Amino acid sequence: MYDTIIIGAGPAGMTAALYAARSNLKVALLEAGIPGGQMNNTADVENYPGYALISGPELAEKMFEPLENLGVEHIFGHVQRIEDQGDSKKVITEDEVYESKTVIIATGAFHRQLNVPGEAEFNSRGVSYCAVCDGAFFRDEDLLVVGGGDSAVEEAIFLTQFAKSVTIVHRRDQLRAQKVLQDRAFANEKISFVWDSVVEAIHGDDRKVTGVTFKNIKTGETSQADFGGIFIYVGLDPVSEFVADLGIRDESGWIVTDDHMKTSVAGIYAIGDVRQKDLRQITTAVGDGAIAGQEAYKYITEHE
Ligand code: FAD
Ligand code: NAP
Repeated sequence: MYDTIIIGAGPAGMTAALYAARSNLKVALLEAGIPGGQMNNTADVENYPGYALISGPELAEKMFEPLENLGVEHIFGHVQRIEDQGDSKKVITEDEVYESKTVIIATGAFHRQLNVPGEAEFNSRGVSYCAVCDGAFFRDEDLLVVGGGDSAVEEAIFLTQFAKSVTIVHRRDQLRAQKVLQDRAFANEKISFVWDSVVEAIHGDDRKVTGVTFKNIKTGETSQADFGGIFIYVGLDPVSEFVADLGIRDESGWIVTDDHMKTSVAGIYAIGDVRQKDLRQITTAVGDGAIAGQEAYKYITEHE
């Protein structure tokens, strides 16, 4: 029986593990992939205090490193379900059942799809959701980035080091991204914008992507343009389907908590991007993690 099982080793889960282990709890950190979460797909982090600039994977490594010495058990596993049995919770992966007094859900969020014709067909053949992973394969190409948030603008800037040109298509005439990123994109000679428009279809030949059809949503006009690669950044959906039966989510799937990271089920907490909240950042994820690690300790001492 663990004191706490943390599901997901992104910045939120790793911080919860740090705080819980430093309270002497028996901690398991269950992760379906490589520890680090979305930080593994981020080239430059410029807004994590203490570092003017650090790469996402390096920050992930620095967060993960101390956990082993603190006795955190890192287990590879993809959690399918949590069963609440009052004082004990069962955490069920594809091939194991783990038991714990408390559970901290830190499964983050995953990129949304456009759901237009050609998107699935050309996935990994010119359509990508990760500039850091795939950008270098698109040297001297004309690239399209879809979206107007922090991810779209930041990754468009990142892609200019490889691409001949980068076009950002946004469904409105104003970006959602932070001002500092907007200013950098507007000043970058390789970046141009298509406003008030969406991608209606993605085209290609038998090998790879060749272009898209745009639709201007104000005029209804459609037009075609050629691109060698398309990077889609139209937001995130919570990774929370596996707790659908616990009744702790809002209508969009974000997990609802109070300021102590408590869900409506006693002993189950949610932290980081998967939680219903306003600002999804590494800093806010680690803040949530610290609170939940401490709350798990309080819950256990109060119940024993
Ligand atoms: P995540 O980082 O999403 O980690 C969740 C982890 O849970 C993953 O490792 C996943 O594999 C695991 N998991 C999911 N489901 C299961 C399951 N069923 N079983 C086991 N494990 C599971 N924020 C900043 O502050 N600065 C930035 O510069 C910045 N750049 C970004 C760039 C991009 C392209 C993106 C997409 C995001 C960026 N962000 C940035 C946002 C930041 O990365 C997130 O807010 C943060 O990573 C959220 O942390 P998390 O721990 O909640 O979730
Ligand atoms: P986001 O902030 O939700 O932005 C999504 C963008 O895609 C919005 O501009 C939205 O348009 C557009 N969009 C949504 N659905 C669309 C559709 N079907 N077709 C066309 N466009 C569509 O998502 P994100 O940029 O991935 O950011 C996610 C979180 O990570 C945010 O909290 C963000 O702050 C954080 N993040 C931070 C950094 C950083 O700090 N440097 C970097 C990356 C991400 P509208 O604007 O019209 O809604």
